[in-house]
Amino acid sequence: MAELDAEKLKENALTSIRLGIEDFQRAKQAKEQGGDPARALSAVRNLFAGILLLFKYKIAVSVDDPDDAQALIFNPPEVLPQADGNGGVEWKPVGKFRKTTIDVATIKKRFEGFDIDVDWQAIEKMQECRNHLEHLHPANTLGEVAGFVADLFPVLREFIQTQLNEQPAEVLANAWPVMLAHHEFFTNTMATCAAAWDDAGVPELMKPWLDQCQCEKCGSSLLRPSQDDIEDGASVESQDKSFDYVCVACGHSDLIAPLMIKALNDADDYDPRDGGEPGVEGCNECDRSTFLIHEQHCLWCGAELDYKECSVCEESLGQGDQWNGGLCGYHAHVFDKVMRDD
Ligand SMILES: [Zn+2]
Ligand SMILES: [Zn+2]
Ligand SMILES: [Zn+2]
Repeated sequence: MAELDAEKLKENALTSIRLGIEDFQRAKQAKEQGGDPARALSAVRNLFAGILLLFKYKIAVSVDDPDDAQALIFNPPEVLPQADGNGGVEWKPVGKFRKTTIDVATIKKRFEGFDIDVDWQAIEKMQECRNHLEHLHPANTLGEVAGFVADLFPVLREFIQTQLNEQPAEVLANAWPVMLAHHEFFTNTMATCAAAWDDAGVPELMKPWLDQCQCEKCGSSLLRPSQDDIEDGASVESQDKSFDYVCVACGHSDLIAPLMIKALNDADDYDPRDGGEPGVEGCNECDRSTFLIHEQHCLWCGAELDYKECSVCEESLGQGDQWNGGLCGYHAHVFDKVMRDD
């Protein structure tokens, strides 16, 4: 088994986080001041690696025996069935502990086994963000990275204080005030943006999807309604072909409605090859792709069905079944036949 040094793990974790914050600062700076937007991706890589190392350190110091610590951190050998020579089966570990350490999914299982509390939703969101950023051009990621760093802040603070019993300002040194200031800036800006949309006439049921929107140019979620549209008294609901957002991070401006509708449709994840069916379709009333099939109403215009279920068999009806007076396709056909036979 490879040698495990818990203190080394912690040191590497903190170094990685500090490097990540340095990368983040460089990525944010203007080019004239030596800024380099390409550092955004390595910021996320370093920060994510750092937090995983910190988690492994916690696992390693949760047991007294260093051998146990190693067994928890390194990937165990594969367990395979073998004939026991008497017609039975024996399950035996094959080979040694590997040189690789455990991944996010296994860290989660270890934490559960040791009652270590972490906001996994936040971690999984970060993992998704990191994997997603790997596939983008670095120039298009800075806005999203800013959100990543802001989300990381409470997780780190909580973990260092409650699980390591240390003070973040001490262990993270110079990186801490940078994170703190960024987090404060970010959450304040988020709140101002959210308040500004209150006067923009966003359809009530679409509001959760507004929160999912990101700038098409930089990926930032810090979007404001365009001041011109607000001053004109325009509303997103009825002026969706002209109402713009403005990105606070990069200044890019474009229509907000298609972003909201896209966010809704992207979340409606289904694979027709698995026999999956869509949950969203075009609305017959307003023509936008915002009609929730199972809920039988439109999130944009609020249109509902006249007939929600077949009056004979109570099967749910869709937009396409409204023409036949509240019957499903089958019963409409049966009634039609009876009438003709008479
Ligand atoms: Zn932007
Ligand atoms: Zn509609
Ligand atoms: Zn029916």
